[in-house]
Amino acid sequence: MRALVKTAAGPGLSLETVPDPEYGINDVLIRVRRTGICGTDLHIESWDPWAARTIKPPLIVGHEFAGIVEAVGSNVADLHPGDLVSGEGHVVCGRCRHCRAGRYHLCANTVGLGVNRDGAFAELVALPVTNVWHHWPGIDEEVAAIFDPFGNAVHTALAFPILGEDVLISGAGPIGLMATAVARHAGARFIVVSEPNPYRRELAARMGATLVIDPRERDLGDAQRELGMVEGFDVAMEMSGNAAALTAAIANMAHGGSIAILGIPTAEIPIDVTTIVFNQLTVRGIYGREMYETWYKMSVLLTSGLDIRPAITHRFSYRDHEAAFAAARSGDSGKVIMDWTDR
Ligand code: NAD
Ligand code: ZN
Repeated sequence: MRALVKTAAGPGLSLETVPDPEYGINDVLIRVRRTGICGTDLHIESWDPWAARTIKPPLIVGHEFAGIVEAVGSNVADLHPGDLVSGEGHVVCGRCRHCRAGRYHLCANTVGLGVNRDGAFAELVALPVTNVWHHWPGIDEEVAAIFDPFGNAVHTALAFPILGEDVLISGAGPIGLMATAVARHAGARFIVVSEPNPYRRELAARMGATLVIDPRERDLGDAQRELGMVEGFDVAMEMSGNAAALTAAIANMAHGGSIAILGIPTAEIPIDVTTIVFNQLTVRGIYGREMYETWYKMSVLLTSGLDIRPAITHRFSYRDHEAAFAAARSGDSGKVIMDWTDR
């Protein structure tokens, strides 16, 4: 099969012909149709210090995908060739305290698809059946391909109650954009999106933001005044990884407000703990998706009218992976999809 491979330590990825993946009695073999490019893939492609520490080439990269079941292991009873599926990219141990209590997203022994084991930027991918999500009828195939980052958005957006609340979202990358649409669908009152990139600010407005601001030009106090807010934000979703964005969020919360942090900073961030204490804020880290409640919620949201398709802005054949990665890296894009059906 054809696959996008990190063949050796250093920058770049190459399209290679590799053996088809082996699959065991509890596994599902999936013929990949569409994949999404994640920031993680960009780190691996450019071979930054995180990638150099983490990745052991040769490795097939990629973890956001949708495909059709090609074959199943002999223990797999409820999936069949032809089913449209995606994969949860966090393969958990199943044996630790949290796994055995059903809190799989807290497993400390998680193995990452396309990071610690061969991934989905390939014509075929194999996964344990417990990681395979069978899509509900009517789910768009491109949307199916981005259930992983959509799940990050849903997990974060539903971490705290947002019905009737005033919400701050910092960072309108693909995940912040989808979180904006989820917050709108879930009944938030004001949604302020802070994002320096004008292309993404414009997309955030389309996805349901009440007000979009450039944090370099306007502060959040100013945004609150424009909307007539007097007490601060009830819920903040930090989706940029940027230190100034987190600092600004903490300073602009209502008393008793909640901050969900998804963005991954590249360095330590000094935090105003005094404000967290006196204003009685709740700060919670969010990693991945809840298995599989987030997947269920995503399916419910989509089948009850949520539309995240405007967050998908670019489409390429997998043969044009260099152009696809360049579009994702440029910042002037939402989600970038690669098509693996063109053989
Ligand atoms: P992205 O890098 O495409 O988006 C981040 C956005 O933040 C960019 O558009 C950038 O312009 C914007 N930004 C930069 N400085 C800002 C500032 N001061 N204020 C407001 N916005 C600012 O990333 P993404 O794919 O949308 O992911 C969002 C974040 O979540 C990233 O930090 C990513 O590493 C992280 N992430 C976390 C998880 C998890 O499980 N916790 C999973 C996936 C991604
Ligand atoms: Zn575990």
